[in-house]
Amino acid sequence: MPESSTSARALHVLQTVFGYPAFRGQQAEIVDHVAQGGDALVLMPTGGGKSLCYQIPSLVRDGVGVVISPLIALMQDQVDALAELGVRAAFLNSTQSFDQAMRTERRVRTGDLDLLYVAPERLMTPRCLELLQASNIALFAIDEAHCVSQWGHDFRPEYIKLSVLHERFPQVPRIALTATADPQTRAEIAHNLQLDDALQFVSSFDRPNIRYQIVEKANGRKQVLDFIKEEHAGDAGVVYCLSRKKVEETAEFLRAHGVAALPYHAGMDIATRSANQSRFLREDGIVMVATIAFGMGIDKPDVRFVAHLDLPKSIEGYYQETGRAGRDGAPANAWMAYGLQDVVQQRRMIDESEADENFKRVQTAKLDAMLGLCETLSCRRVRLLDYFGQESAPCGNCDSCLNPPVSFDGSVQVQKLLSSIYRVDQRFGAGHVIDVLRGIDSDKVKQWRHDKLSTFGVGSDISEAEWRAILRQAIALGLVQIDHDAYGSLKLTEQARPVLRGEQKVQLRQYQKPARPKRQAVRA
Ligand code: ADP
Ligand code: ZN
Repeated sequence: MPESSTSARALHVLQTVFGYPAFRGQQAEIVDHVAQGGDALVLMPTGGGKSLCYQIPSLVRDGVGVVISPLIALMQDQVDALAELGVRAAFLNSTQSFDQAMRTERRVRTGDLDLLYVAPERLMTPRCLELLQASNIALFAIDEAHCVSQWGHDFRPEYIKLSVLHERFPQVPRIALTATADPQTRAEIAHNLQLDDALQFVSSFDRPNIRYQIVEKANGRKQVLDFIKEEHAGDAGVVYCLSRKKVEETAEFLRAHGVAALPYHAGMDIATRSANQSRFLREDGIVMVATIAFGMGIDKPDVRFVAHLDLPKSIEGYYQETGRAGRDGAPANAWMAYGLQDVVQQRRMIDESEADENFKRVQTAKLDAMLGLCETLSCRRVRLLDYFGQESAPCGNCDSCLNPPVSFDGSVQVQKLLSSIYRVDQRFGAGHVIDVLRGIDSDKVKQWRHDKLSTFGVGSDISEAEWRAILRQAIALGLVQIDHDAYGSLKLTEQARPVLRGEQKVQLRQYQKPARPKRQAVRA
């Protein structure tokens, strides 16, 4: 098929089937390349529009597009959504009955499908491979392709076996897609899936119109109210909270202060929840106060801000949630208030979860990276993009760039903190350790005779809030850990030693009292 007619057909399908006027970013190039039979490796952030990169070539080419995805739970929804657009789609996975599977298999064989979603372990069965070999295949799309990387945390052994596709179906184009962009994962995908000769499409993860701002939390909901009133009066936005209860309370509070806020969380009855969602989508200037249950598949272009009142679990989560702001390309704000309590709470949630040790380790590492972003002395965007394996220069559009934090040699303060943690036998949480530092003779201090310690009161010149900020930075720097026990005991790490011995200096961020947010020209 000549090139121009493929692009014309692809655009026609985009407009008539999916109802979008134009391709986004690199979609057009990717679609053309695959529609013409080329292999591709696509790295695109979540929400970037990866699905169309294989759906449209599947419709443009003869035969069925086979989509390999580990996300079995989403297959029914994906198929239903496609069916609504008039696309003939079905899936094969372990959740369906034998009869359902048989029906789908028949449709594959008779050429009655445009798209087939398959779980990788299912695809690898002799039965499925034979079925596909006897059918007309338009392409193979390998979604969540980072699952083939042993280096990542999502490794799935079935993915390694997907290299047989190349051997068994050498004529069928393959497109692998992922939102994980680090160079090592990329190399492993290309190698393990035998996609070394595939064209690579690496989208930038940068969202230049989003201004990142992370502030010290004092009274979170009052701070977010000020932020909305001063910078976003009448704008649509999302305020994320960790718990359902906090969602309800915050929405109530904002409403009481004249903000058109609505709650959204998975515990609400479905009717109210979807009513709130459609008001957010249709009306102007609604502020949705929500848990992270809100946002999947929400495509509202003019969300002017996303605020976090609690720390996200990972940079991936933060990026995804903040990414819902400013899809139209106009200036938008990503604002977050965070404090030591967030770190303690998130640690506790990891420790108390049922997950295995390895998973907990990965979650802890992700939380640490998030903390590093919060505590960084340099550009937030540089740090964020670096996490996704992309180099960049200071952006001029984040709080660190616009109002550079002042740093100072905080070695002495950190030594005082570390010694106090050590002197209380690494068995007490933040509140108690800070009481000891500040020389507060609380009941607990007296009970444990900690007023007799050499570190009692050595930090009385520093406020409690400031000690909390120092402690957070010590955690972010990997000098202190919050322990698994119920008290959130503080423990010293190996890295604390050289600091305690005075062999290593520590730069700290100059403490600034939580201030009212600075006025920004949001509308250009
Ligand atoms: P990803 O898989 O990369 O996370 P999706 O394929 O789910 O992203 O797409 C994210 C959202 O963007 C979806 O709501 C989708 O319909 C929308 N979208 C994708 N491409 C376009 C486009 N060219 N024009 C308008 N909306 C698009
Ligand atoms: Zn910056």
